Amino acid sequence: MEGHFSGGCHCGKVIFEIDGKILNVVNCHCSICRKANGGAFSSYLVVPDEAFVVVKGQELLTCYTMTEKAEKRFCKICGAPVFNRNKLYSGVTVVPLGCLDDLTKISPKVDIYCADMLPWVTPWPESKRYETGLQ
Ligand SMILES: [Zn+2]
Ligand SMILES: [Zn+2]
Repeated sequence: MEGHFSGGCHCGKVIFEIDGKILNVVNCHCSICRKANGGAFSSYLVVPDEAFVVVKGQELLTCYTMTEKAEKRFCKICGAPVFNRNKLYSGVTVVPLGCLDDLTKISPKVDIYCADMLPWVTPWPESKRYETGLQ
């Protein structure tokens, strides 16, 4: 899926644009994302690094090292997540789906770490399920 999307944090001081190919739309049920975002699961867009540009508020982004491989960037004013990068998946930027301004054209393609999915979560039926992460 090609596209142009805009988005940003809750306070609106950090704004980004995505221009290019959307590689994947993922629901992650792992316990790291659960703690990092506070939701039962986390939904993300996966895009090539070059398709993602922070156009405003770059200086407000704080980096938190979640694991040896994964870093989370968030707005230091409102605390909203803005993007993640993971050394396991080099060349791609992982953008929290809820930060996009328009969600009408996007639905999940895969659910990952379903082994850790909470029992009362029902995945989107068209989404492909994986017990662990994508390789
Ligand atoms: Zn903010
Ligand atoms: Zn996760």
